[in-house]
Amino acid sequence: MISLQQVRKVYDGQGPRVVALDDVSLEVARGEFVAVVGPSGSGKSTLLQILGCLDVPTAGRYVLDGREVSTLDDDALSAVRNATIGFVFQSFNLIPRTTARENVETPLLYARGPAEPGRVDAAMAQAAIAHRASHYPDALSGGEQQRVAIARALVNRPALLIADEPTGNLDERTGREILDVLASLNAAGLTIVMVTHDPAVARAAHRVVSVVDGVLTGTAGVARAVAQISA
Ligand code: ADP
Ligand code: MG
Repeated sequence: MISLQQVRKVYDGQGPRVVALDDVSLEVARGEFVAVVGPSGSGKSTLLQILGCLDVPTAGRYVLDGREVSTLDDDALSAVRNATIGFVFQSFNLIPRTTARENVETPLLYARGPAEPGRVDAAMAQAAIAHRASHYPDALSGGEQQRVAIARALVNRPALLIADEPTGNLDERTGREILDVLASLNAAGLTIVMVTHDPAVARAAHRVVSVVDGVLTGTAGVARAVAQISA
């Protein structure tokens, strides 16, 4: 599904030059659930932005679903994004004064052609939030808002779900419920790459990849990786 080959990302804008990723190679098979861990500032979000086609590498190749995407322009990249990828972030980023259902519908407005009816209901059911469809975001708990965000990420039927610290703003118990939702989506075939700095959260994945100072320092089964991070 994902093949990153010797990817480098350099931020070279207004501020000081930052090498955020250096020589990162990573393969993720369809149906995997991979956690990316590492200290703050190590390049985890940069990696996800590239995997999610929100940004392109400075050097190296990214092949997504058999297609080289590292050289695409903005329009082509956003077409790939809309068709293939769903995003979940730490902050739920729901549109205020817009119902849960309407929030979930938004990505369909950017999709090509009309979506078949029932898409929104199906996505909300998958994220176990159908019972809050007519609620506004400010009337939802954090966990419920994240479920709406997950339903929104699912509505275009992505092959890949990218989640950047999806439990970072939630208490432990609610975080675990959100992880259960992600685990069940993965069990149904969705490929997931999730960033976290919490070893307990990484346990939900099949495989853990560590990033330190922009370098991929290891990939391991969950038990070993969690022991290493916790040590
Ligand atoms: P993490 O998600 O692991 O905390 P990031 O990928 O956000 O790390 O950041 C990695 C490094 O790149 C940091 O040093 C950060 O300051 C820098 N960085 C991230 N985004 C930008 C940007 N848009 N412009 C310049 N530097 C950035
Ligand atoms: Mg980050």
